[in-house]
Amino acid sequence: MRRWVCTTVAILAASGMTARAQKPPLLPEKDVAALANELSGETAKRNLEGLARLHRQRGSQGFHAAAELVAERARAYGLSDVAILQFPADGKIFYGTQRSRPAWDAERGELWELREHEGMRVPEHLLGSYEAEPVVLAEDSESADVTAALVDVGNGTSESDYSGKDVKGKIVLAAAQPGAVQDLAVGKFGAVGILSYAQNQKTAWWGEDENLIRWGHLETFSPNKTFGFMVSLKMARGLRERLAKGESITLHAVVKAGQHPGYYEVVTATIPGADPKLKDEEIAFSCHLDHQRPGANDNASGCVTILEAARTLQKLIANGAIARPARTIRFIWPPEIEGTLALLNGNGRSSITSATKSDDGTLQSFHEKLIVVPGVELARRIKAAIHMDMVGGGLETKAVFHVTRGPMSLPSFVHDVAWAFAEFANEQSYKFAATGKAEYPLVAPEGGKEPLRAEYLPYSMGSDHDVYQDSSFGIPSIYMNDWPDRYIHTNFDSAANIDPTKLKRAAFIGAASGYYLAILNDERVEQLTATIWPYRIHRVAGSEERDLQVPKEQRFAADSARAEYDLSAIEAISGFAPSGAPEREKRRSMIPLAKYANDPAQTAKASGDGVLKFARKREPKGPLAVFGYDYFGDHAKAAGIGTPKLLSYEGFWGAGEEYAYEVLNFANGKRNAQEIRDAVSAEYGPVPLEFVVEYLKALEKIGIVEQVK
Ligand SMILES: [Zn+2]
Repeated sequence: MRRWVCTTVAILAASGMTARAQKPPLLPEKDVAALANELSGETAKRNLEGLARLHRQRGSQGFHAAAELVAERARAYGLSDVAILQFPADGKIFYGTQRSRPAWDAERGELWELREHEGMRVPEHLLGSYEAEPVVLAEDSESADVTAALVDVGNGTSESDYSGKDVKGKIVLAAAQPGAVQDLAVGKFGAVGILSYAQNQKTAWWGEDENLIRWGHLETFSPNKTFGFMVSLKMARGLRERLAKGESITLHAVVKAGQHPGYYEVVTATIPGADPKLKDEEIAFSCHLDHQRPGANDNASGCVTILEAARTLQKLIANGAIARPARTIRFIWPPEIEGTLALLNGNGRSSITSATKSDDGTLQSFHEKLIVVPGVELARRIKAAIHMDMVGGGLETKAVFHVTRGPMSLPSFVHDVAWAFAEFANEQSYKFAATGKAEYPLVAPEGGKEPLRAEYLPYSMGSDHDVYQDSSFGIPSIYMNDWPDRYIHTNFDSAANIDPTKLKRAAFIGAASGYYLAILNDERVEQLTATIWPYRIHRVAGSEERDLQVPKEQRFAADSARAEYDLSAIEAISGFAPSGAPEREKRRSMIPLAKYANDPAQTAKASGDGVLKFARKREPKGPLAVFGYDYFGDHAKAAGIGTPKLLSYEGFWGAGEEYAYEVLNFANGKRNAQEIRDAVSAEYGPVPLEFVVEYLKALEKIGIVEQVK
C-alpha cells in the first residue's frame, strides 16, 4: 500500500501533473511574467565572476572590495539608501551573543621547501602562495619568517598524536583544521606553525578529489598565535610518504598577516514602500558576502542572486510594470552570522560624501552625510527575511536545491509562500525539460535546461537564517540553499560550476516571494490560505512517518506540538493582514492532529523539574553558538559549569546544537520544561527531560534565562 502510494506520488511529481494549478500562484500572472522575463541568470553570473576573484575574509581588504562592488552595482541599478554600514570589530565589543572578531588581513604568505646545496639551504619547491591562491593561508594566521623541519602528527588533535615526537621549533603536518590543532601543537608542544590538509564537509564525494585545498581557520581568540598553511590531500600524501621513509623535510614559511582592529561591513540598500504606514515594515533579502576565494556557490551565488532580485524589482517598479509594494524591501550583504548579529544589535554607521556642482559642471562643494541604522529598530521593522546561501550549484556541484522551513519555535507561513513559487518553478521547468515547451521554463540563455526539482525540507541550521529566527528576534526566514556541494569551502568552488539558469530560478523564487510578502494584505488572505493549506497536509504526512519512531507515551505530545505549529503558522498571517487571519477554531477542525492539541487527557502531566518554567531575558540577543565564538561555552567555563549532556545528544533528526537552539527559543516563560521537551522531541526526536532541564538550568546560571514562578 505504502509502496503503491509512494510510486504514484513519484510518477505524478515526475510528470509535473500534480493537482496544483499550472497558473502561477499568489501573484497576478502579469507580475510573474514580468519577473520571469526580466530576471537574468547571466547578469547575476557576471556579478558573481566579479566577487569570485576576491578573497573575502571578514574585515579584510578583499571583503571591502566585494562590498564596494555590490554597493556600486546597487547604486547603478537605482536602489535607495545604498550604504556600506560599519561596525567596529576589535575582539572586545559584543554584538548580542557575538564577540566581535578583529579584522584580519594578509599581504604575503609563501611556503617553500628547501634543499641543501653546497652547505646552504636554497628554495627548491613552492608549496603555496597567498598571492596566487589566497586559500592556502589559514584565516587568522600571524606573521612569521621561519625555517623549520616538518613533523607528521596525524590528526594533531589529541596528545597521543604527539607521543614520541619532538615538534618543538618545528612545523606540524596535520589532518585536522589548524584551529583544532594550535593549542596542542603550538601551545603545549612548542611547534612554530601548522601545515594542514583538512578536508571539506562530508558528502558522498568527500576525499575523492585529492586536488582540493580547503579554506583553513585558526581560532580567532586562541592565545597560541601562529600561522597555518593549507595543502591538498595529494601534496600531503606525498609529504607524509617521504617523512614515513625517514626523509627530513625542511620548510621556509614567510607570512605577513595578522589581526587588527577594524570593522564588520554590511552593505544595505532599499526599495522604499509606497504605503505611508506600511513602508516602515520591511521584507529583508539576506545572504553572506564573506568567505574564501573563489567561494562562487558559497556564497557569491546568494549575494548576486539577491542583487539580481533587487535590480529586477527596482526596474519593474520604476517603469510601472509592477506596482510599488506597500512595504519597504531591504537588501543586506553581511559577513556570515557575525555581520547579521552586528546589524541587528549594533548601530551601523556610514558616511556618504556627495558633491554639489554648479550649472557649468564645475565642482562647488562636498557634503558629508552620516547615516546611522539602529539595529534594534531595524530588527523591529523586518517582518520576514529571505536568506540565500548557496543557490547557484550546477550539475558539477551535485546540488539539490532546498527551500527550507523555519524552526518549530517560530510558526510561520512565509516558507509556504516560497514553496508555492518553487513548486511552480519545478512544474514549469520539468515540463520544459520533458517536452521542450512551457510557458515559464525559467531558462537562462547561457545556462542549463534541466528541471529544477527543488525540495521543501524541515528546518536545518547553519547560516544567517538562524540569527533572524532566534527567539530574541523572532523574524521568520525563508532559507534557500544547495546541498550537497562537493566543492564547498575549497579552491574549486569556482564560477565555472555555477549555472545561470539556477541563479535565475533562485532569483525568481526569492523575488516573487519577497514582492508578495511586501504586498500581502487582508484582501489576499483567502487566496493565500487556499494556496498554502495543502503544504500543511504534507507536513502532517511526514510527521506520521516520524511518529513511528517516537515512544508511544510521547507521541500525543509530539502530535500536539505539531498541531499547535500548524494552527499558529496560519495565524501568523495576522502579522501581515490584521483582520484577514482565519479563526483558530475554523482551522482547528481541519487539522486531524489538533484533537490532541493542549488536551491534558492525552499528555502526561508534568511533575518534578518538568513543571519548571524559564523565560529568556531580553539581552543578549542571538543564538548561543555563533561565528568563531561560543557564547555558551565561554560563559559556562567562566561560571564553572560542565558541558550539559544535551549539547552532545544525538536525536533521530537533530543533534546537540539544534536541540540547544530550540530549547532556548521555546523558553518563553509560558511553556514548562516538559512542554519544551515535548516540542523539541517532535522536532528532532525524543530526548530525556533531565537533559533539557540541565541545559535550562545552565542557561539560568549564565544569565540567559530566568525562572518564572
Ligand atoms: Zn555559506
